[in-house]
Amino acid sequence: MELNIGWLYPTLMSTYGDRGNVITLQRRCQWRNIPVKIIPLDQQTEIDTFHQVDLIVGGGAQDRQQEIVMRDLKGAKADAISTRIEAGTPGVFTCGSPQLLGHYYEPALGQRIEGLGILDMVSKHPGPDAKRCIGNVVFEITATPLAQNLKTLLNDSPVVIGFENHGGRTYLGQVSPLGKVIQGYGNNGEDGYEGAFYRNAIATYSHGPLLPKNPFIADWLIQKALLEKYQTPINLTKLNDSLALQARQAMFKRLDLTSMANKP
Ligand code: GLN
Repeated sequence: MELNIGWLYPTLMSTYGDRGNVITLQRRCQWRNIPVKIIPLDQQTEIDTFHQVDLIVGGGAQDRQQEIVMRDLKGAKADAISTRIEAGTPGVFTCGSPQLLGHYYEPALGQRIEGLGILDMVSKHPGPDAKRCIGNVVFEITATPLAQNLKTLLNDSPVVIGFENHGGRTYLGQVSPLGKVIQGYGNNGEDGYEGAFYRNAIATYSHGPLLPKNPFIADWLIQKALLEKYQTPINLTKLNDSLALQARQAMFKRLDLTSMANKP
């Protein structure tokens, strides 16, 4: 049993610390004796390699880097990512990455950039003078069947703690939102939605990075990736997440979310 984790454009899309998601997935597999290969998916990568990944991670980037990626991620590479996601390969895409997976992104300056159109959504930056959406964000995961899966895992409703930093605003079409904002801006600061969920792909504005603070999502991704690859359900051994739990509880307290004080 082993997992190949594909990491989208690590040198261009690691501006906001989302590398922590890759490390979390890697370590949580290794602690359970599941070997992991981290495979960069970038300008140098052969198309065949795009087809060999069992789990995809994409981080955030600034508009300029994002433009370079979007120009490279066309044709066969775009088709490969789309085929993997449609086939149920799980993934976690943060901030700039989901903007690439939607229909288009309009940067602060310059032309609209076409996206892959996998997620039915669009993202627009209102311009260089517009206020960025920055700060801690807390949201409840509501997307099905993810929310139910996580509820079973946690014995409680799944609440994510993250940190957002984006100028772009995302507006969903038919795709399901990942969750409902409890505190923070979420997709656009207006409709109360955060992120998107499609097939087994999680799209979110939440950095932090996301997975160390919300390790139950990492385990869901690992479990899904193993299930998709080996077509047999695999139970993951429980890990000691007491430090993550303490960090979460400290944040709930700091954000005055006292009703969440005992949340996993
Ligand atoms: N460039 C995008 C924006 O500002 C994405 C930022 C990010 O990935 N944090 O909206």
